[in-house]
Amino acid sequence: MKKRIAILGSTGSIGTQALEVVEQNPDLFEIDCLTANSNADLLIAQAKKFKPNSVAIADETKYLQVKEALANDPIKVFGGYNSIVQLMSLDSFDLVLTAMVGFSGLEPTLAAIRNKKTIALANKETLVVAGDIVTQLALENNVAIYPVDSEHSAIFQCLYGEFSNPIEKIILTASGGPFRGKKRDELITVTRDQALKHPNWTMGAKITIDSASLMNKGLEMIEAKWLFNLRPDQIDVIVHPQSIIHSIVQFEDGSMKAQMGLPDMKLPIQVAMAYPHRIKNDFPRFDFVNYPNLTFEKPDMETFHCLSLAKQAMDKGGNLPCIMNAANEEAVAAFLNREIGFLAIAETIEEVMMNATFIQQPTIEDYKNSDEEARRIFKENLAKKKFVISPDN
Ligand code: NDP
Ligand code: MG
Repeated sequence: MKKRIAILGSTGSIGTQALEVVEQNPDLFEIDCLTANSNADLLIAQAKKFKPNSVAIADETKYLQVKEALANDPIKVFGGYNSIVQLMSLDSFDLVLTAMVGFSGLEPTLAAIRNKKTIALANKETLVVAGDIVTQLALENNVAIYPVDSEHSAIFQCLYGEFSNPIEKIILTASGGPFRGKKRDELITVTRDQALKHPNWTMGAKITIDSASLMNKGLEMIEAKWLFNLRPDQIDVIVHPQSIIHSIVQFEDGSMKAQMGLPDMKLPIQVAMAYPHRIKNDFPRFDFVNYPNLTFEKPDMETFHCLSLAKQAMDKGGNLPCIMNAANEEAVAAFLNREIGFLAIAETIEEVMMNATFIQQPTIEDYKNSDEEARRIFKENLAKKKFVISPDN
């Protein structure tokens, strides 16, 4: 029996790599549903190739283009963000790969869980924003959430055969990004293009900036807390510039297990899509001889202030991670638009975290309101031009 897959965000970095995995394994997977934000041309090309039952494009101005291009194919075409959410209540697929960016992934993921579909979760922001509600809903519906993020996939793989053994702690590895080793005064002048050059991974723009600021590792700490039901003090981060060890689990007897391999997101993607099986592939293999030095450093939380902001948000809980996430999405967009400089990312997020309304036990409505409030505060602050303007403006 082939697994029928829906991909939320099929035109992105994770989405396109997942389609490569599907293409390489036609006996295991078939595509049922593809969605995009506005990249109509790629969505059309993917639909012609993979012949899904349905496609949806969030940007309604692109709907007619997609509809007309697929008029002679037996593919249902939908437009608008809400259609993506509604597609998640169909019965024609078994597993959803959530590979949209940011808060936008939350509603379709909740809809898929209510519909009892297995989740392969790349969209970490979903768990950062509302991890309590998402994991509770998954428990109630007996739905598995398999991680796609490489660190969380590593931990998950270390837990094979160990699911009933308590974890003492986990250690998330971080590459350190393109600015590893730099101090604050050197970061004043870094540009958008420098921030977009990740040393080890090619990814979408938002997560690449998150990796440069180390916010990505902060989001991943919160993601791990919910996925593996951990206390904040059980989650450590270590910088490992070679990105070979993808993360580590330490058990109660002190034994540590790590998962290793060359950095390639196709591996964690196929692990999540094929669990409990491993799929044979011909991806390049890691050779110790080519990496005589695997090195480790403490993260510089003072220079990379986003990591300490995320830790604060994780420790305090409630809606603070949701507020932080919204401010970060806005700050990264403003940085990519050359409206603020790199250091202003953390500065603007901290301002919003101090000024947005704190709620200890938020409902899903509270999360939506907090997301909006945080974005509004960010924009008000930006309009006052209180922050460092990008040096490459
Ligand atoms: P990309 O920016 O490359 O792709 C995002 C995808 O989501 C695109 O298909 C995009 O459509 C779609 N999309 C974006 N916003 C919306 C929206 N508002 N409504 C509907 N669709 C939307 O991102 P990545 O693939 O890099 O990342 C996806 C997620 O996976 C993120 O949460 C990221 O943190 C996580 N992740 C990514 C990794 C990576 O290696 N890339 C590694 C680990 C986690 P369009 O193309 O039309 O804009
Ligand atoms: Mg990761």
